[in-house]
Amino acid sequence: MIDADSERTRRTFLRGLGGLGLGLAAGAIGALGWPDVRQVLARETKEASDMFEVTKTDAEWKALLTNEQYLVLRHEQTEPPFKNAFFDNKKPGTYRCAGCDLDLFSSQHKYDSGTGWPSFWQPIDANAVRTKTDYKIIFPRTEVHCRRCGGHLGHVFEDGPKPTGLRYCINSASLKFVSA
Ligand code: FE
Repeated sequence: MIDADSERTRRTFLRGLGGLGLGLAAGAIGALGWPDVRQVLARETKEASDMFEVTKTDAEWKALLTNEQYLVLRHEQTEPPFKNAFFDNKKPGTYRCAGCDLDLFSSQHKYDSGTGWPSFWQPIDANAVRTKTDYKIIFPRTEVHCRRCGGHLGHVFEDGPKPTGLRYCINSASLKFVSA
């Protein structure tokens, strides 16, 4: 597991309960001495909105970003493979967040995964991105987002090359490339 932090796993579980509308089951857990799930969810909703240095309203993001950037960064859409700006970009340089300009990935860690999306075996530094578990396609995947603005970037999988064994599969639309 990439995100082995048990607290986060527990939160994801609780969030999953909320998302499935299992208020009754959650209430039963509450009666057995777990924290009340409604209080946990209320607190986490507040944490989620307080969590990022750069925050904007949906309307502000929409005005700032192109349509593709907006759909990927703010609504977790995925662009088509092989039809995006950077999957085959081999130039040296830095990939910044298209939402807030934070440096996220370096050409030094980019490789050709054959997937049709820009792929990196690590972020530019350990603090550039954050992850959370995503259940959009039923089985869990690890979603990757910008540490500073929370913009959705893509996913990370454990089938990458050495030395990390990780594959950060990133949407070009979430990135701006700056040549070295
Ligand atoms: Fe950002």
